[in-house]
Parts: sequence; C-alpha cells; structure tokens
Amino acid sequence: MDLSHLFAYFRQGQLYVRKEIHNMLGGQEQGGISTPRSAPCVFLFRKERASGYVEDDGWQLDGFYHFTGEGQSFDMEMTRGNKAVRDHRRAGKVLMLFESVKNEAGVYRFQGFMNCVDYYHKDIDALGNVRRIYVFRLAPIETYSTSHLLSQSKIATHFLDLRSLALEANAPLAVSKFGHYLGPASDSLHLNYEENQRNEYHQRVLTLTKYVIQRANGFCECCGYPAPFYCENQNPYLEIHYLHGVGDYGIDKPSNLIALCPTCHRKAHAGKDKRNISAHLDAAAANVENALDKGILKLVTAAIIIDDTQRILAAQRKTGDLAGYWEFPGGQVKPGETLEQCLTREIYEELSLEITDVTPFMMVDYDYGTFFMRLYSFLCKARGTPVLREHAQIEWLEREDLRSLDWVPADVTIAEGLCNDFNL
Ligand SMILES: [Zn+2]
Ligand SMILES: [Zn+2]
Repeated sequence: MDLSHLFAYFRQGQLYVRKEIHNMLGGQEQGGISTPRSAPCVFLFRKERASGYVEDDGWQLDGFYHFTGEGQSFDMEMTRGNKAVRDHRRAGKVLMLFESVKNEAGVYRFQGFMNCVDYYHKDIDALGNVRRIYVFRLAPIETYSTSHLLSQSKIATHFLDLRSLALEANAPLAVSKFGHYLGPASDSLHLNYEENQRNEYHQRVLTLTKYVIQRANGFCECCGYPAPFYCENQNPYLEIHYLHGVGDYGIDKPSNLIALCPTCHRKAHAGKDKRNISAHLDAAAANVENALDKGILKLVTAAIIIDDTQRILAAQRKTGDLAGYWEFPGGQVKPGETLEQCLTREIYEELSLEITDVTPFMMVDYDYGTFFMRLYSFLCKARGTPVLREHAQIEWLEREDLRSLDWVPADVTIAEGLCNDFNL
C-alpha cells in the first residue's frame, strides 16, 4: 500500500479497529508507537486508561499536538519507535495519529496524517517519577495546498526580497517552554509565550511558502507551463510540494520546496514514474537556488510574436557568443518590473514594436555555465513595423519552419513547445 492509498483509505475522524489496521498494514499490535516495516507510515496510538491519559498529550497552546515517546519506566532512549517518529521524514514515512475511544476496547479514532516538527524532553513524568521523557511536537499534513490564498506580487523580482527570510525560516525553532515545566500551562505569561511561538512557527511556514510561490512567478517549476487558472483573488493557482518530506507542511530550506501545477503535483505523489519526477524536481529546485547562492541567476523574458497570418517572429543575434543564432526577442528583467512590463520595454527597445494580447506560454531554465537563465516566454501580437536596433535580421516563420533555424539553447525548448502545441 503506498501513500496515495493511505490517504484514500484513512479519513480523519473515522473509527478503525486497531487489529484490522495491523492485519492490513503490519506493525506491532501493542504500544503507543507501531512501525510497520513495509508500509510508508508510523502509527501513533494515544490510549486512554481508566484514570485518563497518562501523559497530558494532545493539542497544546503552541498549535502542535504533543505526543509522548515510548518507554514506561527508566529514561527514554532515542531508539526504536522514538527514533522512527523523529526520523520519519528522512525514512519517507508519514505519521498516522489515532486516539482510543472511551468504552470501546481496540477501537481508535483517526486524528490525521502528521509530521514531527521537533521534540523536547521533560525530567519528570506525569506520575511524578524523575526520569527522562521525550515529547514530540506534531503538525498536521496539508492534504491540499493553500498557497494560492497568499497575496502574490506581480513584480517578477519580488522573491529576491523574500529570500533571506525564507533561508532563515529553516533555523531551529525557539526551545520549547514545555520542557522542564511541572504543571499545566495556566498563567497568562506562559500563554502569551506559547501564542508567540505558535505564530513563529506558522509565520515561518508562510514566509517559506510565499517565497517559493513568488519564485515561480506564475509558472509550474516542473513542466514550465503557466498556472492552469487564476483564483478569485487574481492569483495564479500553483501548489507547494515538499521534496524530501511526505507532507506539504513544515519548515524546510527553499531548495526542498517547489511550486507546481496541480497535474505535476499529483504526478509527483501518485504517478507511475514518480521516482524520475522526484529526481527532476530535485534538480530543478537545486539549480535555481544554487544560482541564487552564487548570484548568477538571470531572469529573462521572451516574446513569441504572432502576426495575423499565424507566422512567428524569429530574430537573429548580431553580437556576443551566440551571434548568428536565432531567438525569440526579449531581455533581462529589471528590479521592480513585472514580467509583462519587462517584455513590453524590451520589444520596444529592440524592435520598435508595441506588443498586445500577452499570454504566458512557458518557463524554461537553462544553465549557460557562467550564468543560469530562467526564461519566461509569452505569446503576443505586435503593432508597428519592426526596426532592427539590436538584431542582424528578423524572419516571419511559418509554423512548419520552427525547427529549421538554429535557436539559442534556451529557446530550443520553447520552439519544441510550440511545435507540440501545433501538433507538428
Ligand atoms: Zn506542471
Ligand atoms: Zn506534495
């Protein structure tokens, strides 16, 4: 059973018989943490005794579900079940949280799919014994992305302003006040502290999500095509995917997150070639982040100008390393510009043409070695007569002739994309 089956079968709030879960998926039938060998999950069972829950686990004011590790006497150790919980993401497993139901032996209510955010220790257990206790802080996995709800800027370089904050979001969270406490949180000071900490966590998740959504500038970072639709709030709809986790919720570094169209996102989770897709996504996110680290990322726009007879404008470069090669005209985005503003400016500067009817077509990443190009191409029409200010010559191409020219490397993918669209 893979993750998509688990997501389909287990519904939050529904009742399950523990024995049946193990019959189906394996795992130890006793204890609070059960680690089935071949299923992509770790089970957490919180069991109520006659006298109530032994440890005061559950949802706390910091916004996390607190779950006490295993080991009922002596100091707890970070082995077996405890280790499985702490390291579940690295092992590619998801946590599945169940709570026992009063007066129904062996029946549990499924609380949801969770990620372990961090853990802390206490020096005394709920029965008053002095011993080391590990407590894990869990956050629910999002089963769908809410990233489209965030306000998005159309300024193409906006993500550069967000990046340093996004990088910081990966630092360890403030040490929990829950460690070493000797009673329930009741005083208001404590409450404020925990409120702040909850905010800190959610703020960081938001910062990171916002950054990655902005980095994509409305294009899927996997297939390169634009977001399939716009939301009510005018944002292009893209989803955030976590590359090395099993869920879409948590704090990570920017190279472990990628913005995807819903089709690519589902493919990454449930497609038959999801291994290859994962490798492709890994490289895609790492390439752009590495380029940013080195300061060699160039954001560039390109216009696919189509005339009334459906011919496409190609322009031949006059100078530079790629002189003689053909390209879709355009140029580098300046700070504070939207992609469309950049395109309008560049096409006017280079060809004296005024572009209209601009529609996003495809984003292409290309590593030129000395710099890394993220190229956003747009279909458009143009008014005016072209004047060659930078190019050697231009040509109006019939669709069938798209493959006949020597394109600059980054534009080859765009030409191929056009041929695909025209069924050529
Ligand atoms: Zn896609
Ligand atoms: Zn995902």
